[in-house]
Amino acid sequence: AHNIEQNAREVLQNLFGHADFKDSLQKSAILSAIKGEEDIFVSMPTGAGKSLCYQLPAVMHPGITLVVSPLLALIHDQIKRLRSLGVAVETMNSKQEAGERRRVVDDLCGERPPETKLLYITPELCATENFRQVAQALRVKGRLAYLAVDEAHCVSQWGHDFRPDYLKLGYLRQKIGKAVPLIALTATATKQVMDDIRTCLKWRQPGKIFKQSCFRKNLFYDVMFIDLLDNPYEDLRKFIMKALGPSEKGCGIVYCRTRDACEEVATRLLAKGLTAKAYHAGLKGNMRTVVQDDWMEGRVKVIVATISFGMGVDQSCVRFVAHWTLPQSMAGYYQESGRAGRDGNPAYCRIYHSREERNIIWFLIRKTNGSKKFSLSGKWKAAKSNFEGMVGYCEKPRCRHEAIADYFGDGKPPCEKTCDFCKLPRETANRTERFQSGACG
Ligand code: ADP
Ligand code: MG
Ligand code: ZN
Repeated sequence: AHNIEQNAREVLQNLFGHADFKDSLQKSAILSAIKGEEDIFVSMPTGAGKSLCYQLPAVMHPGITLVVSPLLALIHDQIKRLRSLGVAVETMNSKQEAGERRRVVDDLCGERPPETKLLYITPELCATENFRQVAQALRVKGRLAYLAVDEAHCVSQWGHDFRPDYLKLGYLRQKIGKAVPLIALTATATKQVMDDIRTCLKWRQPGKIFKQSCFRKNLFYDVMFIDLLDNPYEDLRKFIMKALGPSEKGCGIVYCRTRDACEEVATRLLAKGLTAKAYHAGLKGNMRTVVQDDWMEGRVKVIVATISFGMGVDQSCVRFVAHWTLPQSMAGYYQESGRAGRDGNPAYCRIYHSREERNIIWFLIRKTNGSKKFSLSGKWKAAKSNFEGMVGYCEKPRCRHEAIADYFGDGKPPCEKTCDFCKLPRETANRTERFQSGACG
């Protein structure tokens, strides 16, 4: 094992030019792939360095690695990078000239040992008879090292980027045999998506999963029921003051579903003495930039925004994220609330849940089911189930961190009273019960 690690490190430094592995997860995924005994599932956020988890084992293995990637642009990117390192990499795709294709196939299937180390292919191509013959030939000659499937969530209807052609990869896997280890990679692995990946790609049990845990121990999660509050805006003010602390350092975000709600909440908070501004697509001219800068630079403590706000916003001292209305999915909620506490200091994430908003969103989701395209695409089922998950998060008295971990297929996280349920289980259960029985504040 020591030898494997040393060899891998040499390739990492001398060929890829990296001083070290990015982290222990990348390292263990790579070492496990090099051993080649098991199927491997890698789930890490974008930019974490997933490509190396198949590229490094691929160059160390005497055989050829097939890499399935959904977009030609991504494929060309990777080919450029690998060729600049001197790695023999080729592609087969539908946009290729016949002569070029011939050259690639000759190298792959010829008498002499192939030069090619990695072969990038699109999922459409995998399904063609032409490519199946190539795959079959490679198998017979024992030339295959790995089957790598990048953006593997594309096999799942539950993912955000379903591609029907990915379903055909199961057939390819069958064709080349399970002895060739699978390396599946994605940044978005919910439990449902992982299940689909296992089924569709004919996962060999038990396999190895390398997954960054979703647990963030510095975030305190809770749920308040608007119907049970005498004065919801006052509750929001207190929540904000507590999160900012006595020094009132840092800032926060209140998310609302509609522009009107943003304006209303911002006005109410302003009247209570907080510096708050609304941010949404209805703002005129450069007002959105002005509001965002005011918030980024600390002149405004609270930005009251629709979910259009936050993508690519790099602010580490966000002390709270409140959802004035229910998010539409756990994935969205995790992402939005996750903007809090990036500096590692304590931060607070709260949902203000109400029967009225819940019913409105149900109504909106049902209405979209009327559109034929939407319902046929399976998107409606996904939207419905996503929202059910979100309602369940609010209306089931249980550890919030555990509910999030369940959604992402993680094990039980060590919450240690960083959620309302673990801190005050009886009170939280009572509150939930009163909400469900239709009580009012
Ligand atoms: P992902 O597919 O997970 O989004 P990539 O594989 O595209 O991420 O890698 C993101 C960036 O990280 C690339 O620029 C890559 O060169 C770099 N990278 C990967 N591994 C390492 C490492 N061990 N040390 C330094 N940089 C790395
Ligand atoms: Mg990638
Ligand atoms: Zn908990």
